[in-house]
Amino acid sequence: MLQEKPLTLDVGAMAQAHGFLLMGLSDIDLGYAQPGLKAWLSQGYHGEMNYMAEHGMKRAEPASLVPGTASVLMVAMNYRPHDQDWVESAWQQMQSEGLAYISRYALGRDYHKLVRSRLQKLASALQQQALLLGHALEPVRVFCDSAPVMEVELAKKAGLGWRGKHTLLLNQHHGSMFFLGSLFLGLPASFFRATLPAPQADGAHCGTCQRCIDVCPTQAIIAPYKLDARRCISYLTIEHKTSIPLPLRRAIGQRVYGCDDCQLVCPWNKFARASDAPDFVPRHGLDTATLSDLLLWDKSQFESNLQGSAIRRIGFSRWVRNLAVAAGNSLADHKSDPNKQQQRARLVASLHHRLNSGADELQREHLIWALGYA
Ligand code: SF4
Ligand code: SF4
Repeated sequence: MLQEKPLTLDVGAMAQAHGFLLMGLSDIDLGYAQPGLKAWLSQGYHGEMNYMAEHGMKRAEPASLVPGTASVLMVAMNYRPHDQDWVESAWQQMQSEGLAYISRYALGRDYHKLVRSRLQKLASALQQQALLLGHALEPVRVFCDSAPVMEVELAKKAGLGWRGKHTLLLNQHHGSMFFLGSLFLGLPASFFRATLPAPQADGAHCGTCQRCIDVCPTQAIIAPYKLDARRCISYLTIEHKTSIPLPLRRAIGQRVYGCDDCQLVCPWNKFARASDAPDFVPRHGLDTATLSDLLLWDKSQFESNLQGSAIRRIGFSRWVRNLAVAAGNSLADHKSDPNKQQQRARLVASLHHRLNSGADELQREHLIWALGYA
């Protein structure tokens, strides 16, 4: 009977009406992804992200995360900066003496809130349509990076794109500069009438390219489609809670929160579309901030300046740890520039200030490491 009254999903129009770039529907059969997930976890590539191991195969079984789930609507929301030269600006900022580099997605407000609130509105619209046909969509749950969901696999099945060799989802018309969100639904995909592009295999349009693998500063992409998170700068600066391993510190450069390198070199990102969401406009000058200024923030400034930002989640201790690594690298990498002596002196003074302002053990160790390059 469900098939007699399908709910028509005009995914293009609905995506646009709810502020999403892409939208598609997936079934919940991710059994094919379980062996790869098991192998990845057993190698320990998830590092300190113990929740990944604890969730086990739940990640590949949407119905065990939300009982009754029969399909998943996947959405993408773009966050590319407005600047036409955004790729060149990113490289320039990362390489300029004394500047802090923050991943482009984290310069504005926390994306989780915006993606989730738009997904909630979409869920309400769908529920109303289903009710008109005499059906209940429940359970209905929205997720954005908040639960064990294999977002890239579901997005592939929903026709949103293919997995690039850097492991992120890529789309032929929009590159990879977008967030993914998911809407778990109680009705099966067959209930919906939707025009969706066919799912694409891993690397469908990567061809012989391997720029992302070659550019990775820490060789974290150990093989196409395989990431050792323990080496990834995004993991090290955000998820990793303790001391940053010494052999990886120099390769982190001036990246203080996240890393975009594998996306910056990807040829498909020339098609990435700028976001028109005011939430993603850079705040507190984070797109031009100096390491010395950021090091002068105390804990209360960190918390007030980064109110509503995803960065605040790592806490002040890790924030200073990351700034110290970036500062040490800036001092080490720009030693011979005679025109930047004042800037250099300011950075050294900021490191000393932070060290003498009640630094905790984690901060102290990294600040002292950085001062070793002064
Ligand atoms: S985010 Fe950076 S460190 Fe991580 S895989 Fe990409 S290039 Fe490598
Ligand atoms: S840089 Fe090349 S190999 Fe890597 S994801 Fe992009 S197209 Fe694929």
